[in-house]
Amino acid sequence: MANFYPKQYQETGQFPINHNYLPQQFSDYEEIWQQVKKVVQQGDFTLGHAVDKFEHTFAQMNGAKYGIGVGSGTDALFLSLKALGVDKGDEVITTPFTFFATIGSIVTAGATPVFVDAADDFNIDAKLIEDAITPRTKAIMPVHWSGNPCDMDEINGLAKQYNLSVVADACHAIQATYNNKGIAECSDLTCFSMHPLKNLNVWGDGGMVLTNNKALADTLYSIRNHGLIDRDHCQTFSYNSRLDTVQAVVAQYLTDNKLNNISGKRIEHAEYLDNAFKSIKHIKLPNRQPNKKSVYHLYMGLFERRDELQVFLNTQGIDAKVHYPVPMHLQPAAKDMGYQKGDFPVAENICDNCLSLPVHEYISQDQLDHMIQCVKDFYGE
Ligand SMILES: *Cc1c(COP(=O)(O)O)cnc(C)c1O
Repeated sequence: MANFYPKQYQETGQFPINHNYLPQQFSDYEEIWQQVKKVVQQGDFTLGHAVDKFEHTFAQMNGAKYGIGVGSGTDALFLSLKALGVDKGDEVITTPFTFFATIGSIVTAGATPVFVDAADDFNIDAKLIEDAITPRTKAIMPVHWSGNPCDMDEINGLAKQYNLSVVADACHAIQATYNNKGIAECSDLTCFSMHPLKNLNVWGDGGMVLTNNKALADTLYSIRNHGLIDRDHCQTFSYNSRLDTVQAVVAQYLTDNKLNNISGKRIEHAEYLDNAFKSIKHIKLPNRQPNKKSVYHLYMGLFERRDELQVFLNTQGIDAKVHYPVPMHLQPAAKDMGYQKGDFPVAENICDNCLSLPVHEYISQDQLDHMIQCVKDFYGE
């Protein structure tokens, strides 16, 4: 199978109101360049000084003691499961409404994903989890979809009762909070992505695991780096998934200079759209709870006649996108897992009707108003 990204890169950026804003995000790249130069001069390309510093910054920002920089969000999830000892024969409970990587991490760890339907906030329905627990269940992997925290009190309660670990997929949820706590305080291990299309975007792949558990942190520091405890001694033969120093430099720069604005503007824009959309009966917005601070990695809702609306908005210069059209249990990759259409009606309904609109920090007031007007015109409101 060919690499389809070069073509995809050429195609994105065609809309005036776009999901992708990386050229603007890095228009001041000269400042980052200067710091990258130092990395080149020092030559500490993998797990260098800047990685230590950024792990500390990132952990503090999200409410954890320890940060372990890794190669991607997917590796953060995979290595977290491995740190817990998850292996063949184990089950991990998660949602079918997520990105492929959540399930990929479980399967590559050797375990079996067990799906539980989503709720009206588009996250895993905590009320349905207990029925899915078996003697083989090792962990629950909630996904804070679009940056909106899951019902962590309920999930942690079950985890405690059944002696399970909670590994959160927080790849959308940098700087989110739950009951005023940093998102990383709410699970045993919390996993983040810094992929260029995530809220904190680096110049390639990057990820992070956060935890307050020192033993798990020590395991992760080792297993991301061949299982080494020092240069000459290996504790467990393991994997290589280190955060590049260059990416840590980029992430540190964005965190110091831009991240509060990135999150703040997304929240502001999302609230503005919510206000306009909440009275339109053809739109159903996800349930939002006051004790949860979402950072709107995606702004999405359920829109009647979704496919037609998407085409219409595209003709109006708006990059309306579907994240994503097919739930995990109906993917070709899941064909041997024994699921069928109808098994998870809420997740399937989200996939059939959801649409995302850009709310990043470079979206202007005029563009927000244009999006609202176009949606209203479409529904004849
Ligand atoms: C992006 C993403 C991941 C994987 O992150 P990578 O850094 O691309 O490996 C995992 N889970 C969710 C929900 C994501 O959106």
